Amino acid sequence: VEALKSRVRAEMKAACPSADLPQVQALPVSQMLQARLASLVSESDDAEAENAFYVADLGEVYRQHLRWKALLPRIEPFFAMKCNPDPMVMRLLASLGAGFDCASKNEIQSVLDMGVDPSRIIYANPCKQNSFVKFAYNNNVRMMTFDNAEELYKIKRFHPEAQLVLRILTDDSKSLCKLGLKFGAPLDTTAGLLALAQELQLDVIGISFHVGSGCFDANAFGEAVIRARRVFDQARDYGFDFKFLDVGGGFPSAHVTEGITFEKVAGILGPTVNSLFGPDVRVIAEPGRYFVGSAFTLATQVIARRTVSNDVLTAAAAAGELDQTPSHMYYINDGMYGSFNCIMFDHQICEPKVLLRDGVYAYESGCINNDDHLGVASVWGPTCDSIDLISSKAVLPLMETGDWMYFENMGAYTITAASQFNGFRKSEIFYTTTEEEVVYHF
Ligand code: PLP
Repeated sequence: VEALKSRVRAEMKAACPSADLPQVQALPVSQMLQARLASLVSESDDAEAENAFYVADLGEVYRQHLRWKALLPRIEPFFAMKCNPDPMVMRLLASLGAGFDCASKNEIQSVLDMGVDPSRIIYANPCKQNSFVKFAYNNNVRMMTFDNAEELYKIKRFHPEAQLVLRILTDDSKSLCKLGLKFGAPLDTTAGLLALAQELQLDVIGISFHVGSGCFDANAFGEAVIRARRVFDQARDYGFDFKFLDVGGGFPSAHVTEGITFEKVAGILGPTVNSLFGPDVRVIAEPGRYFVGSAFTLATQVIARRTVSNDVLTAAAAAGELDQTPSHMYYINDGMYGSFNCIMFDHQICEPKVLLRDGVYAYESGCINNDDHLGVASVWGPTCDSIDLISSKAVLPLMETGDWMYFENMGAYTITAASQFNGFRKSEIFYTTTEEEVVYHF
């Protein structure tokens, strides 16, 4: 274990500091936040000093890697980079030997640019545009998913040597983001697709599925594997001898400790795979949020505050816009059109905590004095749109313009889909590598 840990640390070091990449500190997240806030005080550019920022903990990504290796040793993770294509996270995972799930030409290009071999990429988008398929062909990226007949004709035309993975539909009713609405071949269509692939002389190597992102029932993984087994058996009738299973994404982030946990998923998925698939079958997964969800903390400044009069409160309550009647509205420098797009697209609940209040650092204490009165407030992003609401009922002490709040677990589906709507820039990222005790054994 020690040898592996020190090898990985060395690789992390090698992967991180380079000419084109930022420095990586080795401080606890709380100290990183504090150090950044301290440096903002001396920042001469006001706009710079008011920008929201992330602290990314690469140590957390590394711990998640170790946890995966310990609990699902047979399954090779291919990081779903759409979740957070941060260059440092990507380099770290590449150096740890992960593969990558790419959804587009640009994603494939950025993985290849890191020097990753094309065999470590799966182009896991069942509906691809022609030029992207050609690009995959020209760059020797062979593994790709499909779930419909038209896609097979397209692949026959532009990438006849592809190693195809048939994505099947699974029950995603126990997940927050139901990807089955858009993708996945129902089981009554797989025979037809396999027959067509056989006729077109395409190489179908196996099956993939996705139980849905933000899955909250570990049993969904076991049931999906059983479905995949059925299609493995069916494929023999069409001349295919499958040796590849892709169990998709949907694995919970480390901060999820109630309901579904990674331990629960691994406890069902690992044994089910082992009982239904012999050692000659290669098994991969496409985890996204699992690696990064808990690794990013966002610090935001209160840029404005409105004390709400009763009239405004009543109007808002009458319009059904607020669950409770807050006494203050705080406006912060990142919002729904930026990092907090996860509220809309990823069904996240984002809870602000006090970071700096009246010049006093409050990372762990939350509120500076025990007798501080906590009130219910609403927290808004900086744009002119009223949909830009981050929390309608945040419990906070009274805060002033210039104070800071922070939000934990902001690593998944946040900055990757952030826009610059209304001219606001994306929040900057600062890196650290914490080294908490690793409890997983090999
Ligand atoms: N694989 C595919 C094809 C996806 O579309 C997604 C997310 O949308 C993922 C993997 C990653 O899912 P998660 O972040 O839930 O692990």
